[in-house]
Amino acid sequence: MDANESPVALNAMQSPFSDININRYPDPTADELRNTIGDFYGVSIDHVFIGNGCDELISLCVQAFVRPAHGVLSIEPTYGMYRVCADTFGTSYWTVPLATDFSLDIQKLQKHFERSDVIFLCTPNNPTGTLIPQSVLEWVIEEFSGLIVIDEAYGEFADANRSPSSIEYVKRGTKNIIVLRTFSKAFGAAGIRLGYGIADEQIITQLMKVKMPYNVGVLTQQIGATLWQERAKMEENVRCLQSERIYLEEKINALGCTVFPSVTNFFLMKPPTDIQSDLLYTQLRDTFGIVLRNFGSKPLLQNMLRITVGTREQNDNLVSALSSLL
Ligand code: PMP
Repeated sequence: MDANESPVALNAMQSPFSDININRYPDPTADELRNTIGDFYGVSIDHVFIGNGCDELISLCVQAFVRPAHGVLSIEPTYGMYRVCADTFGTSYWTVPLATDFSLDIQKLQKHFERSDVIFLCTPNNPTGTLIPQSVLEWVIEEFSGLIVIDEAYGEFADANRSPSSIEYVKRGTKNIIVLRTFSKAFGAAGIRLGYGIADEQIITQLMKVKMPYNVGVLTQQIGATLWQERAKMEENVRCLQSERIYLEEKINALGCTVFPSVTNFFLMKPPTDIQSDLLYTQLRDTFGIVLRNFGSKPLLQNMLRITVGTREQNDNLVSALSSLL
């Protein structure tokens, strides 16, 4: 009788979830899920943080680790929420543009190290679909003393290609790194809002201090625990999406578009030179009800569209829509 909750759940809510006490607040530190995830990776519960999607972790990293007059560093193009969070907290955001082959020049990155408290590195990177080489990550670990956030939201797709996860650096004792993962992509559960971070325990302690008390709901914790037990299904989903990606890449390439290599469940493509991505985007949306991500005139992504791999039926619909427009 300590938390001002209702002692009962309403009937309407009881039926599908009758074994979950929704009238009580959730476990604020999601210990069951942290234990399960920690066991899987071979780290203790103190190395695991559970968040309301990866987005919450991104926001908390900025909130907890950026000091006044310092800022956030990342690459460009990359996931947009790093900039949004830096802006929201009134902090500076510096970026280093990738080369045209989407590789990263570490000398350019180093120029901003002194004034940056947090660096976001997304690998595989959204929207390029490419991995940041381990040699680059190891160099950053060596040279940068602030918090290194490695966003592995698409990490399960890289795992399937036997690409090592940066969680290994945490296990080897690196103090200033946090690796983010999510249930939104390979696990197919974007709607439940569940993400996690693996890091040194001092980083987890800092994040615990700034998070909202009950940041992850009971239903989400429960569904997350169930999905984790069914990892084989997630792995099957990854295999299926990867083979669909290859199928779609080949079809789109055959239509005269340039397809950029990706290890994830999405890829970039450029229509033939006489066709503007803005126009193609609008035609696909208005005539066929298919929405892609258009980068229009964004630096390095000029005239490119990002395609998220769908089911075979959705992929075939996209291919036939494109073939009638190109
Ligand atoms: N990181 C990256 C690179 C993403 O692309 C996304 C979602 N588009 C997120 C994090 C956010 O994940 P979540 O749904 O867990 O908040």
